[in-house]
Amino acid sequence: SLSAGADQHSPTLGVCVGDDGQSLAKKEERINCQIKKRGHMVVATFERLSNSRSTVTLSVPDQSPMERFSKHHLNVTQLCEQSWCEIKVVYGFLKPHMKRREMRRTAVTTGASIHLARELEANPDALTVVVHTREDREALKLINLIQMVPALEAGQLVREFPVLGVLDGVFFLGVVDELYCSKSGELVLSELKTRSHNSLPHPAQAKGHSLQVGVYKLLFDSMVQGSMKRDQLLHYLKLRPHQAFGSALQSYAQKLGLLAVTFGELVDHMLVVLNFSNVQPIDKLCLEYRHQSSGVLIGNREVEFEETLLMAELRDYLAFWRGEREPHGVDIEDIEEAWKCRMCPYEESCEWRSSRLQEVMVDGSKKAK
Ligand code: SF4
Repeated sequence: SLSAGADQHSPTLGVCVGDDGQSLAKKEERINCQIKKRGHMVVATFERLSNSRSTVTLSVPDQSPMERFSKHHLNVTQLCEQSWCEIKVVYGFLKPHMKRREMRRTAVTTGASIHLARELEANPDALTVVVHTREDREALKLINLIQMVPALEAGQLVREFPVLGVLDGVFFLGVVDELYCSKSGELVLSELKTRSHNSLPHPAQAKGHSLQVGVYKLLFDSMVQGSMKRDQLLHYLKLRPHQAFGSALQSYAQKLGLLAVTFGELVDHMLVVLNFSNVQPIDKLCLEYRHQSSGVLIGNREVEFEETLLMAELRDYLAFWRGEREPHGVDIEDIEEAWKCRMCPYEESCEWRSSRLQEVMVDGSKKAK
């Protein structure tokens, strides 16, 4: 007899043969194993290739991408990448060396220096603070946020404002490029995008940008409306509330007049600052496009904010992360989409693309007959 076992938290399947449960390695038997996905299940069929041929089929629940890629939270920019191609997001986790190479290339070509110059312009006295723990690193972001709230209340421009919170059961983190008060008193969120071409983006690219600023608004508004909860923040970020700051961060916090010395105390302080601030929700969402090599303005676009539509879109994206649906790749038959694959580092090895190409060829030959 053949029996099989699987750990439902791991894609690795272990197989034992015989009544004594000896492992295959000991028996040195040859075995065929086929693994297929059916809905939310991974179905493995093992076939023993010895004299007494026997087969066993085993089904285990598939892991969601959140579990599989050990994600406790998402960055807003990850949603934008997802709006481009979900298969590419998956490859980014499976082939991290290729993603790192692409990120290095895009950091050079996406005008990272324009962003940095702007940040330094808004904060010329920026200091480097040495961080020792994850709590230190996140605390530094919260300290920056606490520092920016009075500036926002006074109607001043702030840059690199951290936003965080739970949307549809998933914890998000992001950083807003720019918030300022318009002449008519509206609070405007503006996101700077640099482009290698001196032209406004294609709708497929602009879609991700609009999604990004829309999600920023949802997060920012819920923060200033007091929806953020201490326990949620600690739970999703897996941070220790009693962790004391490292010495450099402690001196930095003291210099700014902050009394908090542990991460939990800082979170409490930030929630008080947000809950008692008079900062209003964002009124207007803007995208600013600049030419990356010259820094010249290409154009500005205002983004419509339709909360119901945005939440429906967000739920669909999150259905992928929760494993409630399969990832979607580029529709290679759509001329408005197919060009994305030509700029993709995974083009050569992409199974989605090659299987769609085959389908197109089969369809084409059927029609020809
Ligand atoms: Fe997505 Fe196309 Fe890249 Fe495949 S080749 S990951 S479908 S963009």
